[in-house]
Amino acid sequence: MSLSAIALSRELIRFNTVNPPGNERPCAEHLARLLDDAGFHVELIPFGDARAQLVASIGGQADHPPLAFTGHIDTVPLGAQPWSVDPFSGVIDGDKLFGRGASDMKSGVAAFVAASVQLAGRLAGTPGVLLVVTAGEETGCSGAEMLAGTGKLQRAGALVVAEPTGNKPLVGHKGALWLEAETRGVTAHGSMPDKGVNAVYKAARAVSALEQFDFNVARHPILGAPTLNVGTIQGGLNINSVPDRAVVGIDIRTIPSQTNARTCEHLASYLGQDVKLRTLIDMESVWTDPDDPWIGEVFEIAHNIAHTECEAAGAPYFTDACALKPALGSPPTVILGPGEIVLAHQTDEYCLTTRIDQATEIYSQLIENWCRRSLS
Ligand SMILES: [Zn+2]
Repeated sequence: MSLSAIALSRELIRFNTVNPPGNERPCAEHLARLLDDAGFHVELIPFGDARAQLVASIGGQADHPPLAFTGHIDTVPLGAQPWSVDPFSGVIDGDKLFGRGASDMKSGVAAFVAASVQLAGRLAGTPGVLLVVTAGEETGCSGAEMLAGTGKLQRAGALVVAEPTGNKPLVGHKGALWLEAETRGVTAHGSMPDKGVNAVYKAARAVSALEQFDFNVARHPILGAPTLNVGTIQGGLNINSVPDRAVVGIDIRTIPSQTNARTCEHLASYLGQDVKLRTLIDMESVWTDPDDPWIGEVFEIAHNIAHTECEAAGAPYFTDACALKPALGSPPTVILGPGEIVLAHQTDEYCLTTRIDQATEIYSQLIENWCRRSLS
């Protein structure tokens, strides 16, 4: 069965899946029908109101796990700037396919679905492929976390995350640990501050301490050092009262030698008992040794087809792989997709159609190699 990845990208862009609220169900159902028609075993998994995720597989052998692909179908909002094209029309101008989600990452999903459908007729009796299409990624990988928690995911032999990389294979990314630090005080009239306890002063001391925080870990040779940023601060209700509550938002990016749990403990003891930490997002870092033989194969195929330079490098963003990689048995994982990193979340987002064709070809070759090698 032949399926054009570019045509499918346009179909997916026409579903408005701006998250929040997401509304991914119609888009997921469209993919489910298509995969079902191609002979895949398809499971549509409800994910709240008008939302759904998809796990589809074809082929399968007892002792050879499948090659897995993942991508999300939700997108970020359109932003405040007006678009010069309809963001939900999938209009093509020259080599550019425009639309919200074109780069991040409906073209990536379309490319792996098209590659899998094209090969579907030949995958019976081989290790096969496993496709994991998620919702809720843009608001913190909540869909992937839910899927990982259901136990519905089988072990995979390798994982391709089709996030935008311009078809350059990337072997990992930092983790994300987003925390809220809360301080409490006692309110009083603003003219008598000695009668109260000022929560904003406590928060200010915490913020100053956070600026000096030392993770005390060696830099990762590729991903660099962990980072910490105080992104928000809120405190007090009115100017003439002593504030009894303040909240500081902290964005930490971790590296493979750290675990988020240990980092959180370290920070809690550093800030002391006056500060209560609450976790908003908890995504571990993702890393595969670039010397892994399968990664070498991905580098070679991507270089041959897309002429991308292949050296060990990481993605600047985090992905659903934080939750999915462990749930799939921690297989070697690559981030490789047709979108452009710099266009993700932008006004007038587009994806180059040549890149969509290249990605489809790369994925096809990865599937063929995966299934051929395991047969021999
Ligand atoms: Zn994305």
